[in-house]
Amino acid sequence: MDWITECLQRFPDTVFRRDEPLSAHTTFRVGGPCALYAEPAAEGDLIGLLETAKQRSFPCLVLGRGSNLLVSDAGFPGLVLATSRMNLIEVNGNILRAECGVPLSKLANAALRAGLSGAEFCHGIPGSLGGAVYMNAGAYEHSMAEIVTKVRLLEDGKLLELPASEMDFGYRRSRVMRKGGTVLSAEIVLRPGDPEKIADTMRTLDEKRSQKQPLDYPSAGSYFKRPEGHFAGALIEQAGLKGLTVGGAQVSEKHAGFIINRGGATCSDILALQEEVTRRVEEKFSVHLEREVQFVGK
Ligand code: FAD
Repeated sequence: MDWITECLQRFPDTVFRRDEPLSAHTTFRVGGPCALYAEPAAEGDLIGLLETAKQRSFPCLVLGRGSNLLVSDAGFPGLVLATSRMNLIEVNGNILRAECGVPLSKLANAALRAGLSGAEFCHGIPGSLGGAVYMNAGAYEHSMAEIVTKVRLLEDGKLLELPASEMDFGYRRSRVMRKGGTVLSAEIVLRPGDPEKIADTMRTLDEKRSQKQPLDYPSAGSYFKRPEGHFAGALIEQAGLKGLTVGGAQVSEKHAGFIINRGGATCSDILALQEEVTRRVEEKFSVHLEREVQFVGK
């Protein structure tokens, strides 16, 4: 039996699609098809599919909300495991327990309803909890590392429940990024707060975002990491690269740290633009820009 048939037969509660274009599942709206796309609804199926991929040695990619991904035009020749149906949140006092597919906006809203403060910065980040733990996503001087206290993960076939101190969180990095593994759920501890103030902070941060960021175009957020002592966007702007275009990809006129898809951009366009930006910034400032967006493909 080939691996695709095995997955379809063994996991009847999972939604599967063959040859699914990944451009439909990334905020860049870029990416070719994967051999098999799966949406498991429960942790057991997610683990079962990950284990099957390991035993049968076919490539496997865990997909959150696709908001930090650049997928090659050739697509992905294996199984894409989307976590979007794993989106339960439990609130207990000031502790939230959430599955990996929970969107950060939903997490922030659950905290608001429970009168809990600390997750306001998450509201405008368009990722899932799993992707945010993987990236140690953050904004406005805060990051996941501050609020995540425990992570349940599958690593090397073992189920682990790790305290944050073992997650190796740093600037846009985590243990999962370094060692591999899949975030299944996480515990988040917040503090009691005034719901009006929490809502107000969320609104203010969202307004800041829409004033500064090109949210009306597909993108994957800040394309480059912040180089030490600098801001990628400022360097790109000072190098005169705002508006630089390759095919459908462009350095945003609104925020030079964003590469946007102006329509019909391919992954090759984006990579060619990345190369040109990196080259010119290095030439002018001797600073090397490193991609923050995760690349999938060859
Ligand atoms: P995906 O893009 O789906 O995946 C990213 C990586 O995480 C992949 O390697 C994937 O395999 C891995 N992954 C996903 N889920 C899991 C899991 N359960 N277990 C293990 N690995 C997993 N980021 C910020 O930090 N701050 C911001 O302010 C910010 N603003 C943004 C604004 C815009 C408009 C956009 C488009 C993006 C922005 N981002 C920002 C980037 C992005 O939203 C974050 O990096 C987010 O955490 C990615 O989560 P995701 O679920 O979309 O992950």
